[in-house]
Amino acid sequence: MNRSIEHVFEPTQPHMVGDGFRVHNFFPSGYRIGYKRMSPFFLMDYNAPFQVEPSQTPRGVGVHPHRGFETVTIAYKGKVAHHDSAGNSGVIGEGDVQWMTAGSGVLHKEYHEQEFSRSGGWFQMVQLWVNLPARHKMTQPGYQGITRAQMTAVDLPGGGTVEVIAGEYRGHKGPAKTFSPMHVYNVRLPKGAHAGLSFPAGFNTGMIVIEGSVRIQDEKSVKADRFVLFANDGEDISLQAEEDAVVLVLSGEPIDEPIASYGPFLMNTQEELVQAVNDFNEGKFGQLED
Ligand code: MN
Repeated sequence: MNRSIEHVFEPTQPHMVGDGFRVHNFFPSGYRIGYKRMSPFFLMDYNAPFQVEPSQTPRGVGVHPHRGFETVTIAYKGKVAHHDSAGNSGVIGEGDVQWMTAGSGVLHKEYHEQEFSRSGGWFQMVQLWVNLPARHKMTQPGYQGITRAQMTAVDLPGGGTVEVIAGEYRGHKGPAKTFSPMHVYNVRLPKGAHAGLSFPAGFNTGMIVIEGSVRIQDEKSVKADRFVLFANDGEDISLQAEEDAVVLVLSGEPIDEPIASYGPFLMNTQEELVQAVNDFNEGKFGQLED
């Protein structure tokens, strides 16, 4: 049975995160989709394409903490560098993903990569905050750098590919290790090509059109920079590219637990938030130079 389209969201007014990321927040606050409507995905910041002016000093966000979830950054244009207090670092370029598990707590910083910063150019990315189930919130911090080449690319019969980042597509598993069931894909379709997707009806499901334009469920045309939220009333989704298109697809089993959120911390209770702030102030998240 087909899923219905619940709503197509236009991008919100952008705001700056640090001095390097110009993002439209689609959820939780942007359009009041709510804290749990896309669970396990808690937050989506979308940096629509914008031109970065050349700079000797890379722009970005300085040292800040996280606890209780994972930050997943997907670069579409430009390059991002990451360093954290667990000793992990990495640079991702076009089509690559950094999947950082904050777990019990890290400090990290996120900047434009140095060479990209010097030359400047187009920049486009998505950052997701993926919630952790209560039993994994205090897991050890981790980092998975996943290049586009490491993703599982499934060729579609009529042209185009599904690049599996996490979960699976028709039995082909992606490389990311996750703490709850979810599927994350980049669907790349040349004009006219078609992709059929299927997820359990109970999985919260949405997609953002990164490039081009797609017709969804043979019913609605959606252009770049829009987020599509699906109802939980069926399994099947069809996409047809009206022009060459890239679509980021998210689907996951909801985490049915209380949410307590404060800034960079995402826990289950107020007490845990207070503990997070105290632990951070006491230096328990480790050390990282600015
Ligand atoms: Mn961060």
